[in-house]
Amino acid sequence: MRYSIVSLAKNAMSFHQNWPRQWRSPSPKESYDVVIIGGGGHGLATAYYLAKEHGITNVAVLEKGWLGGGNTGRNTTIIRSNYLWDEASHLYEKSLQLYEGLSKDLNYNIMLSQRGVMNLAHSLQDVRDTKRRVNANKLNGIDAEWLDPQEVKDFCPIINISTDLRYPVMGASLQKRAGTGRHDAVAWGYARAADQRGVDIIQGCEVTAINRDGGKVTGVETTLGTIKAKKVAICVAGHSSVLADMAGFRTPIESHPLQALVSEPIKPVLDTVVMSNAVHVYVSQSDKGELVLGAGIDAYHSYAQRGSFHVIEHQIGALKELFPIFSRLKMMRSWGGIVDTCPDACPIISKTPVDGLYINGGWGTGGFKAIPGSGWTYAHTIARDRPHELNAPFDLNRFVTGYLIDEHGAAGVAH
Ligand SMILES: Cc1cc2nc3c(=O)[nH]c(=O)nc-3n(C[C@H](O)[C@H](O)[C@H](O)COP(=O)(O)OP(=O)(O)OC[C@H]3O[C@@H](n4cnc5c(N)ncnc54)[C@H](O)[C@@H]3O)c2cc1C
Repeated sequence: MRYSIVSLAKNAMSFHQNWPRQWRSPSPKESYDVVIIGGGGHGLATAYYLAKEHGITNVAVLEKGWLGGGNTGRNTTIIRSNYLWDEASHLYEKSLQLYEGLSKDLNYNIMLSQRGVMNLAHSLQDVRDTKRRVNANKLNGIDAEWLDPQEVKDFCPIINISTDLRYPVMGASLQKRAGTGRHDAVAWGYARAADQRGVDIIQGCEVTAINRDGGKVTGVETTLGTIKAKKVAICVAGHSSVLADMAGFRTPIESHPLQALVSEPIKPVLDTVVMSNAVHVYVSQSDKGELVLGAGIDAYHSYAQRGSFHVIEHQIGALKELFPIFSRLKMMRSWGGIVDTCPDACPIISKTPVDGLYINGGWGTGGFKAIPGSGWTYAHTIARDRPHELNAPFDLNRFVTGYLIDEHGAAGVAH
């Protein structure tokens, strides 16, 4: 059933009791052309574009928990493309462009809200770096502007630009096409659209081993039995190195907890996204009225999906300094995810040393914004057994050649 005003009205007549399930829950087949490990946004988008762009529909997405239960359902949903280097900005800009048409493409409202993202500068060095990035973005055709402190205040009236702050606001970059999207809707929209094209989505199915014959992948062992596959694609966010280990190769990835929290709902006060690398906080207001807040990563390594209290304390301190208006707000809940970080703060979308095995990971704190672009380029890489020009620079081999793409500036705070 297509979602439309007509189907909404029709279903209202039966008190919304007869909506069909959004995707099937099939048992796994004995074999597939492609098995994708991980039912987060990246895995589901990859399945969708494999079917849509390359006509490969004999595909299974294997998810050990539930769809979007990993980082896709835990992130703060910021979408932007204002990265410094050409390679990264082209990839993230492709993603933003796909996001702009995604609700229509998937026939699923992903609630994209292009409310703008401001990255604050708090020191002279910050000002120089941020202006440089604004100029680099413009050269790449990406919308970006530099705002002085008064322009920051005009754009976001509740921000504190007083000069006696510990970290005064000395300006900001603004990408107006950036903003937020609804994380669950992105996962569910891709799942529904992939299912409609014949992809099997199998939840509660953990991959426990990657089977190989010589140097070639032959399938996977799972908690639901052996599944054969001509090609296997890893897409597991916080567990990339665990899966790589199963296949016998190493990645330079470190896994850290990353936390976020939301406040009680309040009336609309903030209609943009504000991020600060220096004080380590970023904030937006959800459609329900809650403030959605994120911090930097916890310093230690962990797979626990929870972080330390002092990180949240630091983040709230920074928030109160920038927005004194929030000082009496109650926080409702906090949570954590596991983010895989690469030494250059850029992802991996790549072939691996095992023939027929591919890896997509290392998105660190910023892979939600990349879901469409990542799925699109990863599907190309899997279908053609060679990277698209957009993801070629994000090959595993760059850690051997040293051709790193240092995006620590643009990816500096969790986002
Ligand atoms: C607190 C927080 C805030 C963030 N904020 C932002 C933000 O504002 N903007 C942004 O762009 N990014 C943000 N991110 C990063 C973003 O969430 C991730 O980069 C992105 O969601 C990764 O998507 P994914 O599909 O790769 O991973 P996931 O959604 O984690 O999906 C991977 C799936 O693989 C499954 N899996 C793992 N091992 C196995 C196995 N052996 N067998 C089967 N399945 C397995 C997991 O259960 C999981 O569901 C944030 C992350 C966190 C944690």
